[in-house]
Amino acid sequence: MLPNNLKNISLFLERLPGIGEKTANRLAFFLLNLPDEDLKEFAENVATLKLKTKFCKKCFNFTEDETCEICNDQKRVQSVICVVETVLDLLSFEQGRIYNGVYHVLHGKIDPLNRMGPEDIKIKQLLDRTVENGLKPFRTKIKEIILATNPDMEGEATAMYIKNKLKTITNNELRITRLAYGLPMGANLEYADYMTLKKAIEGRNKF
Ligand SMILES: [Zn+2]
Repeated sequence: MLPNNLKNISLFLERLPGIGEKTANRLAFFLLNLPDEDLKEFAENVATLKLKTKFCKKCFNFTEDETCEICNDQKRVQSVICVVETVLDLLSFEQGRIYNGVYHVLHGKIDPLNRMGPEDIKIKQLLDRTVENGLKPFRTKIKEIILATNPDMEGEATAMYIKNKLKTITNNELRITRLAYGLPMGANLEYADYMTLKKAIEGRNKF
């Protein structure tokens, strides 16, 4: 029913996560009604997206430069590294403005069922970054590594793997922490699952 070009755009939008046919059509019509300049700018950004977006050499966040804004920010505590699975997780911390250290993005997690091993994510780069120039005895500017992988089976396994590796290469001299897990605000104990309750009681804080 739609002319080809418009139909192609709608079909493409339908491939995006969470977008159905109706929404795709609505978005395509919205694009059609945008001022020419806006649409041109959008098209250029899409065309150069892959070309311009690189990994930060230090933390593997996305950037257009060698290193990202967060790594370049000298007001941030460069000696505390928060290890996350994805850039989306990093953005969650940033949007909440609740953390002032730097990050390390793994770009995945150890997941044997999907054939993702430790060498498929940025673990080696984290270890290299932690121990300066591979110096022995262990020397580092890093004071703490926060393992903020997800609290699911693969996330836990990834955190455990990294913890063991870090302990070995740093002679147990590095502070390694894991996010506290437990009940979401407003949750009801009655409906909490066993693992959540277990983690909540293990991670209880002084009150
Ligand atoms: Zn960075």
